[in-house]
Amino acid sequence: MLGAIIGDIVGSRFEYGGRNMPNFKLFTPECAFTDDTICNIAIADAIIKGLDYGENLILWCTKYPYPLGGYGSKFLEWLTSSKHKAYDSWGNGSAMRVSSIGWAFDSESKTEKEAIKSAKPTHSHPEGIKGAVCVATLIFKLRTKKLLKEDIPDYIKEHFEYDLPILSDVKGMNDTCMTTVPQAIQCFMEADCFEKAIRNAVEIGGDTDTTASIAGAIAEAYYPIPQEIKEKALKYLDNDMKAIVAEFFAKFR
Ligand SMILES: [Mg+2]
Repeated sequence: MLGAIIGDIVGSRFEYGGRNMPNFKLFTPECAFTDDTICNIAIADAIIKGLDYGENLILWCTKYPYPLGGYGSKFLEWLTSSKHKAYDSWGNGSAMRVSSIGWAFDSESKTEKEAIKSAKPTHSHPEGIKGAVCVATLIFKLRTKKLLKEDIPDYIKEHFEYDLPILSDVKGMNDTCMTTVPQAIQCFMEADCFEKAIRNAVEIGGDTDTTASIAGAIAEAYYPIPQEIKEKALKYLDNDMKAIVAEFFAKFR
C-alpha cells in the first residue's frame, strides 16, 4: 500500500497533464497526497482495526475534506449525504483504494471477498467491483509468487476481460476502472523496476495520480521500493497517516 501512496504523491502535480515528460523529478514542493492516499489509508486502517470499509472511508475523507484535486463529484455527494447510498459507479476510485487488501489476507478467495466489500459502499456497478477485485487479486498473486509477470496479460484477459494496451498508443482520459486498471497494469508490465512503473503512469497522462497510484500498488508486489523513495514520500504524509502505514507494515509485512 505504500506503493499506492508513492504513486499518488508523484502523480499529483500532473493530474490531467503529464504526457511526455521524460526525466521529470519524482518529488517537488508541488506534490501532495490526494484522495487516493486518503482512501488507501482508510481501507488499511479498517483492516487493522476490523472496521467497516464504508464507515472508515467516511471517517477519513471527512477528516481530510479538501485534498489536492478534491474528490470526484459523485463521491463527494456520497460522502456528504446522510444516507451514503452506493451510486453504481464504475469510476477508478474502487480500484485505487484497494491496495492494502492485496497484502492483508492469506487466500485468493478472501482477498476477492474483501475487495468486493471495499468497493460496494460506493461502486455497486459490476465494472466498479471488477476493477477492485482485479487490482487486489493481482497484488496477492504477485506477492505470493502465484503468477509470473509474463503470464499477466493472458490471466487478466481470461479473468477480467481487460485487454492491456501498449502504452505508446494510450490517449485521452482514463478515469474509469475499464480504462485505468488495464493501463496501470501495463505501466507495470513495461517497467523493469518500481520507479519506472510510476514514471510510465505519469508519461501516459490523464488521471495521473490515480493511474500512478494503482501502478505503484501493483509494482510494490513485485519490485522492491528504493529506501530513498520511501523516505521522501513519507515526508508528505501527516502523522496520523504515517502511523497507519507503520502499523500496517508491522502487522502484514
Ligand atoms: Mg487523486
